[in-house]
Amino acid sequence: VTIPLPAFLIEHARGLVLFDTSLNPKAAEDAEGTYPDLAPLMAGLQFPSEARIDRQLQALGFAPGDVTHVVLSHAHFDHVGGMHLFSEATFLVGEDEMPFAFWPDPVTDPFYRQSELEFLRGVDLRQVHGDLDLFGDGALVLLHTPGHTPGHQSLLVRLGSQSVLLAADVVHLREGLAGVPFPGDWDTREMRRSARRVVQLAEAEQATLWIAHDPRDWERRTPPPGTYE
Ligand SMILES: [Zn+2]
Repeated sequence: VTIPLPAFLIEHARGLVLFDTSLNPKAAEDAEGTYPDLAPLMAGLQFPSEARIDRQLQALGFAPGDVTHVVLSHAHFDHVGGMHLFSEATFLVGEDEMPFAFWPDPVTDPFYRQSELEFLRGVDLRQVHGDLDLFGDGALVLLHTPGHTPGHQSLLVRLGSQSVLLAADVVHLREGLAGVPFPGDWDTREMRRSARRVVQLAEAEQATLWIAHDPRDWERRTPPPGTYE
């Protein structure tokens, strides 16, 4: 299985919002040096330099300093690796995430990299309780979807012509929507509730449910840097 490690950029009148930041850009040149303790996971990594988050922003005509808000689905290494580029942005994290990230269960410990997470102590960090309509107009709604991690968030994006529900890691493959947990999930029962919630919400909203790590969800999309309006 080839697992995409995405980030999503959303232009809104009140800000430029990044949902997740993928891997550390340095890993494009030196994956094992950047993640020495995760070397076995990095062995098959395909990370061309044009896929670095800074290069992809540049290709779209933006610089990291243009990003006003970074929403983190959770604090695992494959979602926070590029966050250090956005020190001027406001960060939005589920409120139970950071205490757990700094003292995780042993089974999830390898996914939280303390050395990278320390960065969040120096930024404008908002810990979000429950759901949050980010700009008050319904366009971007952060959804509290715990299970994979305690503070996991998904993002409902209501565009002009369609709605997209970015599930992040509620599940890792579509099969998970039937309630099949991932071995590294923090809480299996919560994961099942969140999987049910995103399915029901996507139906109600007639939104496209987009599973971040499921390669089949990418085959149906405009390839990066594809845009949606
Ligand atoms: Zn992930």
